Amino acid sequence: MLKGSCLCGSIKYALNGPPLFLSYCHCSLCQKASGSVMLAALHTGSSGFQWIGGEQYLNAYESTPGIERFFCARCGSNMPVVRGAHITIPAGTLDTKVGVKPVVHVYCASKPAWDELSDTLPRFAGLPPESFWSKPNPE
Ligand SMILES: [Zn+2]
Ligand SMILES: [Zn+2]
Repeated sequence: MLKGSCLCGSIKYALNGPPLFLSYCHCSLCQKASGSVMLAALHTGSSGFQWIGGEQYLNAYESTPGIERFFCARCGSNMPVVRGAHITIPAGTLDTKVGVKPVVHVYCASKPAWDELSDTLPRFAGLPPESFWSKPNPE
């Protein structure tokens, strides 16, 4: 069971993992939404996902046509986004420690020059090709 919450603690969520992988998104939208140079996101199936508190504070912003980002109306924290069977969780909102590691940097073309990446994870200017996801996750 994974649990998380926003900065002010009003919104709480839970889901029955398992967590699949973490990614770092450097796109301009994630920069604005997070207020930082990238958004670390945990990806998992949406099975058993539920808001367990503060749903009335949940607000949505359509940052791309048809794609909404959720945030807390009180404190502004990014909140998980459920799209069908897939859920994307801003990793900083997790209260449960997860054992998975980041596997990829995406939308690196948008990152500022001073944001120097020091790890050896695969990097893509935009999204990885579909073939990337069919490989087993690197250790
Ligand atoms: Zn909040
Ligand atoms: Zn992004």
